[in-house]
Amino acid sequence: ELYNKVLELKGNIRVFCRCRPLNSEEIAIGASMAIDFESAKDGELMVTANGASKKVYKFDSVFSPQADQADVFEDTSPFATSVLDGYNVCIFAYGQTGTGKTFTMEGPKEDRGVNYRTLEELFRTMRDRQGLYRYEVSVSVLEVYNEQIRDLLVPGSQSAITSKRLEIRQVADGVHHVPGLVEAHVSNMNEVWEVLQTGSNLRAVGATNANEHSSRSHCIHCVMVKGENLMNGECTRSKLWLVDLAGSERVAKTDVQGERLKETQNINRSLSALGDVISALATKSPHIPFRNSKLTHLLQDSLGGDSKTLMFVQISPNENDLSETLCSLNFASRVR
Ligand code: ADP
Ligand code: MG
Repeated sequence: ELYNKVLELKGNIRVFCRCRPLNSEEIAIGASMAIDFESAKDGELMVTANGASKKVYKFDSVFSPQADQADVFEDTSPFATSVLDGYNVCIFAYGQTGTGKTFTMEGPKEDRGVNYRTLEELFRTMRDRQGLYRYEVSVSVLEVYNEQIRDLLVPGSQSAITSKRLEIRQVADGVHHVPGLVEAHVSNMNEVWEVLQTGSNLRAVGATNANEHSSRSHCIHCVMVKGENLMNGECTRSKLWLVDLAGSERVAKTDVQGERLKETQNINRSLSALGDVISALATKSPHIPFRNSKLTHLLQDSLGGDSKTLMFVQISPNENDLSETLCSLNFASRVR
């Protein structure tokens, strides 16, 4: 009875679950916790309702509200540094708005998240390998909003009038490219920080409500690495995608109209396309439906094959959010 159902998550993709702490308002009104972290160290997370156990989920790692950015990065860094060995890597943050996707990926300035820490780790590893390998790193920052790609390193790209239309082109077998997208060459962490700041500042420009806009678009950092093995002259080219996805919350169709309805439909479409692609890859399906959304089309070369995928499923501990939490956890178990 206790273990109503144990969902095993396995396969090529790794799934980490991170739960945010209750916030001060929730604490003030005495909100109940719907999550039990008793066996979090074994990757288990128990969902409870009215104090009774409902379901147990299994993940590759579980981060309770007490886990800090360093704890999370400790488990994440091997994926990120694989890019220096020539692997393509995708790291996603999935979940309802307000569960900490941006906290995990971007993080506050004084407590930076996966994006910054990853680049820091890349530069550290590159220094360790000096004399053995030579690397070149560049970064693009973009967003996918309403199935349109916008360059967040180009001022004006937020405006539908001044932005140039960016499209995905296949330039060779298995090589997709976005012609015109800015690739900023970075050679130290100061330059990285500048690029990340430019991206996050431009993201807010032109939006009437910056928070709302960011919860309705996918924010994507692409780190491109060219490597040369100085012993044998072998060259590699690889990409690391860091993706802060749009909020996964369900919106009742009756609540939204016009532009907002279109936004909602586009978000649902791209998040379910992402789930479809990852689960098709996991089950080794002969047809992988990459073309069903801009997001999956863009990431096509870096999903499947020998590439590595890490999905953060971000959840709220609040019992009031239980139905969205279960949706997110079920999404995660679908992409195993
Ligand atoms: P999302 O991007 O999923 O909408 P945010 O990252 O903006 O969510 O997080 C919502 C709020 O919760 C923010 O105020 C953020 O600082 C806080 N928060 C989220 N995760 C954590 C955490 N692990 N520890 C402390 N605060 C967190
Ligand atoms: Mg966010």
